[in-house]
Amino acid sequence: MINEKMYGYGAAKSAIREISAYAARRKAQIGAENVFDFSLGNPSVPAPDEVRAAIERALELPPTELHGYTPAAGLPAVREAVAASLNRRFNTAYTADNLYLTAGAAASLSITISAITRPGDEVVVIAPYFPEYRVWIESAGCTCVEVLADRSTFEIDVDAVRRAIGPRTSAVIVNSPNNPTGAVYSRENLERLAAVLNKKSCELCRPVYLICDEPYREITYGAEVPWVPSIYARTLVCYSYSKSLSLPGERIGWVLVPDTCPDAGRVMLAVAGAGRALGFVCAPALFQRVLADCVDVPSDVEAYARNRDALCQGLSDAGYTYVEPEGAFYLWVRALEPDAEAFFRRARDHELLPVPSTSFGVPGWVRVGYCVSYETITGSLPAWRALADEYRAQGEEQA
Ligand code: PLP
Repeated sequence: MINEKMYGYGAAKSAIREISAYAARRKAQIGAENVFDFSLGNPSVPAPDEVRAAIERALELPPTELHGYTPAAGLPAVREAVAASLNRRFNTAYTADNLYLTAGAAASLSITISAITRPGDEVVVIAPYFPEYRVWIESAGCTCVEVLADRSTFEIDVDAVRRAIGPRTSAVIVNSPNNPTGAVYSRENLERLAAVLNKKSCELCRPVYLICDEPYREITYGAEVPWVPSIYARTLVCYSYSKSLSLPGERIGWVLVPDTCPDAGRVMLAVAGAGRALGFVCAPALFQRVLADCVDVPSDVEAYARNRDALCQGLSDAGYTYVEPEGAFYLWVRALEPDAEAFFRRARDHELLPVPSTSFGVPGWVRVGYCVSYETITGSLPAWRALADEYRAQGEEQA
């Protein structure tokens, strides 16, 4: 006997991974320069030099220390360094005790969800959303409740969230800057959300937590990314260095439980307990040490900004509509027919490989990941134009 639920997660193919595997096969057939793979969120900017220098310094440690276990929550000095960096940036007073280091945002989110829910609870997500949220919510025995984002801005539709919250709601997950839309939630909207969550927590006599998934916090093009724990007390922040320092394979991040959170000490112990239960203790030790030296290293967003500008200009010239991206490295483009999968198949015929929006829980769009080379962006533009022309010609024929 096996666990059928786990079997289901293993057997269900990730559309994003499938598209990326197809891209690799296709590149082998017709040449890499002729295939435009926009599927994965793998940073195209190299990790900063400071990371390499920090690795080299860490390698000087005695091997038993370097490769040994750390405390389950991570090295205290590293957590202290992360806390000090947050304090400098957000005028807070966190300490090592507010942080639990994790293997990336994935571990951070699954730990947090398990820590603050009980089986049978509901967790609200804003659609379109990162597909793994559903897996983590359901594997904690909870129900994933989808609430559509605002149709034009892709901001949180706060009234719709209010309507979705019921006696079993334990948390709302928000992700800003957003994957897949590139939206950055405004302070004003987050304040409206906080007012709703405060009211609901009072009415329901139970805390409704806000889980902020923030791996793209530093990847923005001028927009303010408000520090949400300063807006809503029951906020837990899940962070990773996968995107900001281009370290997705190294699996390093953290959960922050701020002291403003009622019962913060107990919540932190539940986080530690969930880490223990899920087997996520002692985040990768080498990269804990790297963090201590790199917490204030800025993200290099210049290449993403250049890609974003070229892609937006090219697609808008070809007649596409999209959400103006304020952060992350994804462009959310309106499909040229209602069926995103059908649009994807026609794009694929032009060697264009975005991700259909069905993967993110909504119809009618595709996500174009622009964390690729500049040449991939510029090289793809004739194909985007040809695809749009094909739809236009078909429309004229049918008219
Ligand atoms: N949350 C969002 C919105 C993401 O886009 C990703 C990765 O792409 C993750 C979480 C997981 O990040 P990590 O690689 O740090 O586990």
